[in-house]
Amino acid sequence: MSAEDPLVIRSLEFMGGMAAAGSWRPDSQLPEVAFVGRSNVGKSSLLNKLVRRKAFARVSRTPGRTREINFFRVNDRFVLVDLPGYGYARVSKERKQEWRPLMEQYLRHTTQLRGIVQLLDVRRDPSDDDLDMLDFLAELEVPVLIAVTKVDKLSAAQRVGRMEELATSLGVGTEQLLPFSAQTGEGRDDLAAALVELVEEDPWSLE
Ligand code: GDP
Repeated sequence: MSAEDPLVIRSLEFMGGMAAAGSWRPDSQLPEVAFVGRSNVGKSSLLNKLVRRKAFARVSRTPGRTREINFFRVNDRFVLVDLPGYGYARVSKERKQEWRPLMEQYLRHTTQLRGIVQLLDVRRDPSDDDLDMLDFLAELEVPVLIAVTKVDKLSAAQRVGRMEELATSLGVGTEQLLPFSAQTGEGRDDLAAALVELVEEDPWSLE
């Protein structure tokens, strides 16, 4: 482990899951950072890499937990929030939209929310669900980091062009995209440093 690790994990505790809008959520005032993306985008792999615990995100994947919001206390300093993956192609349209009330309730009513990490797969164009989510987050004015996953799947040359395309389709600059690979570990420390900055900053929501 490198001495410059911006986020050394000293403790990691599963606090529980929130199953539906209005139901139980942890009673904690620690700053929260939430991770969101479509199913299969590589969220579990990214979270495992981020906290350097292979078994970590498995808890979010156990039956009954995949559609919940799962909360993890990190170093007794902040809470990492794993939002359910959306837009799973094999479920019905009705089922697909099930995530909305739960996520909207969480995102609108969590005053200690310091930021969101939106994940996008480098090989896929942003889906309608991705764009809806980004619009919603822009409306909330919550800081958003965009992590572009699975960058190891492209060559260095392909990647440059692809990052530009993605940035253009999202209307942001390429410097706002954080390349990430759970396979090679690329981007882990940059993401960790960005998270630490978010949770240590003064809350954006307090004027
Ligand atoms: P989730 O549904 O968003 O939690 O996605 P997972 O983390 O389960 O990953 C979905 C699939 O993508 C799995 O087959 C992973 O092995 C693969 N995957 C995830 N991250 C990476 C990555 O950085 N590089 C590569 N090559 N594959 C990845």
